[in-house]
Amino acid sequence: YRSKARGRGSYTLFTPDMVESHKRKLHLANGIEQGIANDEFVVYYQVKVNNDGNVIGVEALIRWQHPEFGLVMPNEFIPIAEQGGKITAITRWVINRVCIDMPELRRWAVGAFRASINLSGHDLRSNQLFDYIYNTFTLYDVNPENIEFEVTESAYLENFTLSNKFFRRIGNMGCAIALDDFGTGYSSLSYLTQINIDTLKVDRQFVSEIQSSERSRLVTGAIIDLAKRLSLSVCAEGIENLEQWQYLKEHGCDNVQGFMFSKPVPIDALVTSPSHYKAEEFI
Ligand code: C2E
Ligand code: MG
Ligand code: MG
Ligand code: MG
Repeated sequence: YRSKARGRGSYTLFTPDMVESHKRKLHLANGIEQGIANDEFVVYYQVKVNNDGNVIGVEALIRWQHPEFGLVMPNEFIPIAEQGGKITAITRWVINRVCIDMPELRRWAVGAFRASINLSGHDLRSNQLFDYIYNTFTLYDVNPENIEFEVTESAYLENFTLSNKFFRRIGNMGCAIALDDFGTGYSSLSYLTQINIDTLKVDRQFVSEIQSSERSRLVTGAIIDLAKRLSLSVCAEGIENLEQWQYLKEHGCDNVQGFMFSKPVPIDALVTSPSHYKAEEFI
């Protein structure tokens, strides 16, 4: 278990566990293209609801139904795909899938509806992604106003100029743009005045600490307040109980998603009644 990876004369000790995980990583990295070709990826959808409990959209969350490893989660394979230069192939696959699913998805909404697609920082560097999006919307007759793109602040800021240009075009087309996992990345807020977004997404970490930490409550409230002052809408993720939802509503949060309403599920498992989320116990 010795490796010279760090260079001549410097040895790193690998444990059997590390060797296993390295093998798995390689295996995943080498299987992405074939996985796409073999339709091993699947999009799960998690509903987003407004303060009345009505569905206003879904977030598309990818999983990999791997022939050997079973269901592999995006936190494991997305970074691997990014490192291996394969992320944009995955992103395109998700965009295509969501467009195909759109007629079915829209049925769950009472009013306006958006399906959200996560983008990685690498996606924004490719000049062709905009064209791919435009062409796919055209092909499947998708209204851009039914789509939102989510990007983390760190991904947005990795290449500020390119991101701005990309999202200006995306926004002009009619798609919405959300800043994902807000509050967990950069500390400078000055860029918020210079970017073209519609929504701030409050990270799950803050939501999970609403009941246990006064500081998290204050930070969550401040993020919502900041968004409102910038005329942005706010969506909080990771709502697991009524108390968290109540706090968010009281502080002006517009929309939420979380296990309290639904885990991400395959499209066939989205519940049949749009009023489901209005269930008495929630309101
Ligand atoms: P994200 O975009 O911040 O997505 C929210 C994550 O929180 C999802 O994890 C979701 O299942 C989870 N979540 C939602 N509500 C709750 C809750 O109430 N409790 C708990 N414990 N978790 C909740 P998931 O699906 O494992 O995705 C993880 C991350 O992987 C996503 O974070 C996103 O950054 C990335 N990802 C997922 N799909 C894609 C994709 O198609 N493309 C790209 N580039 N990234 C993706
Ligand atoms: Mg997201
Ligand atoms: Mg998020
Ligand atoms: Mg998150």
